[in-house]
Amino acid sequence: MRILGTIAELRSVLDTERAADRTVGLVPTMGYLHDGHLSLMRQARAETDVVVASIFVNPLQFGAGEDLDAYPRDLDRDARLADAAGVDVLFVPGTGAMYPAPVLTTVSVAQVSEPLEGAARPHHFAGVATVVAKLFAIVGPCRAYFGEKDFQQLAVVRRMAGDLSFPVDVVGCPTVRELDGLALSSRNSYLAAEEREAAPVVYRALRAGVASILAGERDPAAVRALLAAIIEAEPLAQLDYAEVVDADSFRTPAPLAGNLRLLAAVRFGRARLIDNVGVTVPAPTQGG
Ligand code: AMP
Repeated sequence: MRILGTIAELRSVLDTERAADRTVGLVPTMGYLHDGHLSLMRQARAETDVVVASIFVNPLQFGAGEDLDAYPRDLDRDARLADAAGVDVLFVPGTGAMYPAPVLTTVSVAQVSEPLEGAARPHHFAGVATVVAKLFAIVGPCRAYFGEKDFQQLAVVRRMAGDLSFPVDVVGCPTVRELDGLALSSRNSYLAAEEREAAPVVYRALRAGVASILAGERDPAAVRALLAAIIEAEPLAQLDYAEVVDADSFRTPAPLAGNLRLLAAVRFGRARLIDNVGVTVPAPTQGG
């Protein structure tokens, strides 16, 4: 595995690979790798010839007072794990390599960026869309792998790639969880022992929401209230939001119908964790 730190080096390596007709797979990350990241890398390994993973803690997507400086980092360990997962090129640019000049151009995606994470973190998705657009421009034609764990981010990236005609197939990959249901996240390292024990309540609440919809609940307010009640019953949990939306538009249909996503953001101490699950409401049968 090669470790590269500049845009020029990465472009030159990938130009050579593509000239030899080899396909490229890209896995953007912020590092502190876990099995969720590695599942994306393994899928890229299985589906493309040259696997590029990036590690870049992107300042543009952090707001004032968020955890940019505290974000966990361990490049040596990350390099070993990425190598073992089959990554060929690990791109680890410094902030100066990624943003050599003050950033005057940003990419923002309307609608899908606005509710939920977009409302809680106002400049977050413009930061994400901008860095991902840069990575797509640097890496060129490729398949790019993103986790459903960050479901709204996946929707923003898909929309951005389509709207701007990037020659990139955006591939969504399932969320990898601990045995007790907690979605793997680099930010789980912030959890104190008792918070770690409490954290699976988020997935439990989302599953209960899905069960209620499958049992016939069609009122979004009732589903929202159920999620909130379960999460708020956990003393260490501080609910940020719990919602049910249409999985494509991110608007809430009432009554609930179609392909839905239940999403929640919850704080445990200094960790702010997000998670989501999907459920499809069967179309009503005609006649009878
Ligand atoms: P991050 O390093 O948190 O920016 O995540 C990099 C990529 O890994 C994103 O596409 C995430 O959605 C994905 N990812 C993070 N956690 C998980 C997980 N538990 N399961 C699957 N993918 C994940």
